[in-house]
Amino acid sequence: MALSKRLARVGRECVACGTCEKVCPRAAIRVASGVAARVDGALCVGCGKCARVCPADVIALVEREAAV
Ligand code: SF4
Ligand code: SF4
Repeated sequence: MALSKRLARVGRECVACGTCEKVCPRAAIRVASGVAARVDGALCVGCGKCARVCPADVIALVEREAAV
């Protein structure tokens, strides 16, 4: 499958609440205990669901070319 044009990027202000992890349809964003969320760029399809639910508003969708 071709990679999406956009992917999620998590800002430093992430509070590791885990909300994004629960809504991601691809299990592409994960939160280890107490650590900021991390996005697996190979799985993320840039749908933006995580960004819409993040209570800290720290997820941005970025152009994939700019993110690597
Ligand atoms: S929803 Fe936002 S604050 Fe919560 S773990 Fe995900 S990126 Fe961090
Ligand atoms: S943009 Fe979509 S696929 Fe990517 S991490 Fe967020 S919810 Fe998952």
